[in-house]
Amino acid sequence: MKVAELLAAIEALDLRRSALALEQEEAGQRAKTDPTVRQLRQRRAGLEGDGQHQASALKQLELEAAELAGRARSHEKAIYDGSVRHPADLQRRQHELETLRGKVQALEESELAQMATQEKTSAELLEVVDQLALREREVEQMRAADRLQAPELAEEISSVQAERAQLAETLTPPQLRTYERTAARRRPAVAKVTGGTCSGCRLPLPSRLIQEARQDQLVTCENCERILLL
Ligand SMILES: [Zn+2]
Repeated sequence: MKVAELLAAIEALDLRRSALALEQEEAGQRAKTDPTVRQLRQRRAGLEGDGQHQASALKQLELEAAELAGRARSHEKAIYDGSVRHPADLQRRQHELETLRGKVQALEESELAQMATQEKTSAELLEVVDQLALREREVEQMRAADRLQAPELAEEISSVQAERAQLAETLTPPQLRTYERTAARRRPAVAKVTGGTCSGCRLPLPSRLIQEARQDQLVTCENCERILLL
């Protein structure tokens, strides 16, 4: 095999190794807390807090309404059982009764509005709980698949590494260094020459370079520095 062909084979292995390492890393990320699960848990906690808040606000409204209704009843009783004799007193109590009835009605309307808000919160909470359960199941399935795949992945990585080491032995250190240097900056580091142009940067190559590459010399494109493969 020509030097450029060997380097192209090394590059293919390096790219495979990177893809496998990325898969491993992604599996590692999935093993940690899932961002969607975390977000849904936060929303659930927020809605639970809102619900508790709304329930105690409703309770407060109910207590106030009950208290005012009790006062209204005692005025009613006094007005209708004939125990109030003085006309001014009677008038005062009637006025008070009207005021209390108005307040009770306003409180009852507030209660209805509060109950509607509470229902909305409960519905949202149910939805979030469903979404969370679904996502948690999905995450668990992905993790199970990752655990199953992990040994295979590790095995393939080590076989790619062994194959690369074997290929690298057939090259000289300067040849390998040229490849490493280019690969650190651009992929692919080895570019095929097609129709007299470098397939990496698509610029035409001087025929002198093509001649040298034909003689199995390690030749790089003068424009993009990629190793030329004929
Ligand atoms: Zn080029």
